[in-house]
Order: sequence, then C-alpha cells, then structure tokens
Amino acid sequence: MNKQRLSELIQTFFTCDREQVSAIFDELLTAVEMEEHRGAGGLMSRNYETAQANPEIHTLPGNLKDARDAIFPYFWGTDGWSSKLHLENVKGPANYASLVGALACLLKNPNLCTDTYSQRSNELEVKSMTALANLVFYNTDSPWGLFTMGGTVSNLYGGKLGIERVMPGAMHHGLQDARLSGVVSQAAHYSNATLAGWLGMGTDHLHTVPTDANLAMRLDLLERKLDELYAEGRRVAFVIATFGTTDAFGVDDVAGIRAIVDAVSARHGQPAPQLHVDAAVGWFYTVLNEYDLDANPFDLNEQTLPLVYAIQQHSKGLRHADSVTIDFHKLGWGHYPASAFVVNRRDDLKCLIREKRDVPYFSEADARRDPAMYTLECSRAAIGPYSVMATLNGLGLIGCQMLAANSLEMALKFKARLAALDYCRVLNPDTIGPSVVFWVLPKGRDAGQVYDQLVAGELPAEKRERYFDETHRLFDKRCQTLDPAVDARLSFTRSIGYCPHGVAIPAWKAVFFNPRTDDEVIDRVIESIENLM
Ligand SMILES: *Cc1c(COP(=O)(O)O)cnc(C)c1O
Repeated sequence: MNKQRLSELIQTFFTCDREQVSAIFDELLTAVEMEEHRGAGGLMSRNYETAQANPEIHTLPGNLKDARDAIFPYFWGTDGWSSKLHLENVKGPANYASLVGALACLLKNPNLCTDTYSQRSNELEVKSMTALANLVFYNTDSPWGLFTMGGTVSNLYGGKLGIERVMPGAMHHGLQDARLSGVVSQAAHYSNATLAGWLGMGTDHLHTVPTDANLAMRLDLLERKLDELYAEGRRVAFVIATFGTTDAFGVDDVAGIRAIVDAVSARHGQPAPQLHVDAAVGWFYTVLNEYDLDANPFDLNEQTLPLVYAIQQHSKGLRHADSVTIDFHKLGWGHYPASAFVVNRRDDLKCLIREKRDVPYFSEADARRDPAMYTLECSRAAIGPYSVMATLNGLGLIGCQMLAANSLEMALKFKARLAALDYCRVLNPDTIGPSVVFWVLPKGRDAGQVYDQLVAGELPAEKRERYFDETHRLFDKRCQTLDPAVDARLSFTRSIGYCPHGVAIPAWKAVFFNPRTDDEVIDRVIESIENLM
C-alpha cells in the first residue's frame, strides 16, 4: 500500500475538517433558505432516464466538495415542505430542535442494536420511550418499546405479538395450519394489510369492519365480525384500532373495543387478541391531556375547546391498549425514521426474545439491555430517540400543546368557511384533528343534500358517479390553474374511509399540519374554490 496516498485519503474522509464541514453545511443551509421563497412544490422535474443510464462514479479520490456536488442537484430539487402552502397530507417541515438531535446522532452514528454499540444512546432510547409511553398510557407499571423504521413496522410488531399471543411458539414452529385472522376498521391504514401479508397470515385474512360517519369502527359490527370468525373456528390474533385515520382523522373507541374483544373471546373460550392501536398520526394530541379547559391559557376559541375535551376523553381509551404505534416523523415534526412501538407491559415482548445461540456475535448480549435480542432489525438507527428528546425538550409540553391546538383551530376555521358554501360539503365535520375532507361541486348544487341522500341510500348510482366525477374534475381544474406562489396545494383521496352502503367516497383533502399555515392561506383557498366556476 502506498502509505502516502492512504494517509491523504484518511486525512480527507476520516478526520473532521471542521472548517470544511461547516462551510459545506452553511452552503446547504443557504439553499434551504432560498427554498423558503419559492412557494410550494414544482421545484425541478425529475430525470429518471439518465439517472439509470449514467450511474458512473468518480475514479480518483476527491474531497468533501465532490461529495457535496454529487448530491446537490437532487438536494436542490427536493422540497423540504417548509412552505405554509403545503396542505396535502401529514407531511411537513421537520422542526429544527429535531435537526439538532438528528445531526448529533449522525455525528456519532450509534447503532441501537446493543448496549455495547450504542452506549448512552440506548439510554436515550429508554428515556424517550418512557416519555412517550407516559403520554399515551398515563401511568403504567412497565412501559417499554423500541424505535422502528416507520409506522408500518411498528404496526407489524403489534401484529406479531398478537400471533404469538394466540399461537405461542409461532416464532419457531411457524403458522402451520392455524387459521389466523386480524381485524381493523375500513378506514385503517393499508400498512395493516402489509403486515398481514408479510407475517404469513395473508391479506385475505385481514377483515375490515365498517365505520360510522365519524370514521370510527362500528362496535356492533366488530362484535358480529368476531363472533363470526370464532364460529368459523378461526383464531383472532389481533384487533388494530386506529387513533386518527390518515385521511379524515377517525378515532376508534379503544375502551369500547377492549370490552368487546375481551368479552367475545372469553365467550368462545379463546385467548384475547392483541389490542394494538395505530396512533401513527393521532398520538400527538395526547399532549393536550392536561390542558386546563377552564383556565384556557391559550385563549382557544369556543369551537376548539370542545374538541380538546373530546381528545382528552378519547385519549383515556389508550390505556386499554396492549401496544401503540407512534410516528414522530408525522405529527411530532421529527426526522425520518422516528416511529415508536410502545407496549403497556414489558413482559409482552418476551415472546420475541432470541436464544443466545441464535446471535453468536452478540456473545455478551442480554435482553434486559440489548434490544437486538428481540428486535426485527439488527442494525438500528438512533435518529428516533435523538429527534424525540431534542424536540420534546426544545418545544416543551406547552409548545407541543400550542402546535396541537393550533392545528385543530385552523382545521375548524377551514371547515366553517367551507360550510358557508352551499356547493361544498365537509365530510368529516365532527372529527378531531388537522384533516379536512370535503366536496366541491359545481355552483348551484346543494352538496349537503347530495351527501344526505348518499348516506340515506337514496342517491341513484348514476347520479352519484356524476357528482363524484364533478368534484374530481374541479379538483384537477384547480391544480391546473393554481398559482404556486400563493395557492395552497391540496390532495385528493379516492376513499375517505367511511363507506355508506359500501360506497367509497372520494374527496378533496386539506391537512393543517404545517404550523406556518395561516388565515391568509385559508382565505386564498376559499377564493380559489369560488373562482373555479
Ligand atoms: C402513515 C401511517 C402509517 C404508516 O406509517 P409509516 O411511518 O409511513 O410507515 C400507519 N398508520 C397510519 C394511521 C398512518 O397515517
């Protein structure tokens, strides 16, 4: 080996040149600053053709600026969603406290697999997990959990614990010919189908229970479905409730579901299924649990206060869950990946523990402190704990409460503005949360009446399709005519999750997720809708 050249390489890439690293970081920050003035979306078009045709890499060693240049066009061409005009989804700007945490994490690059590889970063995971568990469960004897790659994987853990619960030893013996089923609401996230497929149960055996008009699972139909499944001789591994559906923010009654799963499984002499709650989006509102409604320190308006009360009531149900999914990279405004799977009783994770002989290179591992003994992953990123603790302690509980309450207030304002237009209909007027799903029909139509007819089952299919088509076409028209500098970006969903008489309802969607979105944005959206016709 040419020692001289090797030493140059090490000097450039394995020694921290503080000045150079800071200078490049400063350039990246400048690019981010410029983005702030560009409005929402439409930055640069993609070039997939040459991306695949030109994968060449440099031959000679370069320097950190080569690293910068290699990624810069893509960095520049990517929207960080900081603009207040982004209302498409539960996606938004990550907060800067989280950036401090995430950068600190990247600088040390710990691996949460074992204590030995992460030292105090595992301690931070325990701390942040306990903080999150206290938020969702209040006081619980032995909260525990772990950070995962995303809400999908956190839900997958819930499903896996359920399978082990009704079929102990499945980890080793497989599903054999057990006939397993799982249950979710019709408005649940598709990740539940993903886990049913990946866990070997089969997506065909994930059953959906219809919701009421508020997007909450119908408890009477849940009971009927469970009875049916048990009567067919199937084992129900899990029921996954949703706390905040992705489109319209339906919240399932977790306490009610608990009572039903316990009663029906006992009636059939079966072990109770895992009651997992997918609170990927909705968990954040538990920060409002202790908001003092009488003193009302934020001066929330009269319409918002009852919503906060409703959230406090819904949140109490979470204590009845066996486990909960939390996405800190959605509400939480953290960096990806920062999803947490939290269990109410630490012992429940026992069924996942590996034998020492299965993990030869972690010879000293101990399940009491080395997550690799029971996690799906081996190497595991630490962005989650760093993002969570930096954010929660940066913003403080009060800061989080302000963000949560603000999103509620903005969504309510927008709902009220739409309600004043006859040709519009808000489809989730009574759900809590940041999401508004709605119809815009041609002027002259009575959208409220159309909706009532649909729900009553009195809207002929052919008319229904015409109205659905109209609202979609108006959405497209707005997209084509909007001015990216001032008009907010909305999105369109093919089904809000509530399906009266089996009909999936399409809708426009606006999510008040970005804390910077203000009254001016709402005024302008309403104006753009009025100008469509
Ligand atoms: C986003 C979402 C998921 C999936 O989470 P990822 O972090 O994107 O994998 C699951 N459930 C709900 C309700 C969601 O909104």
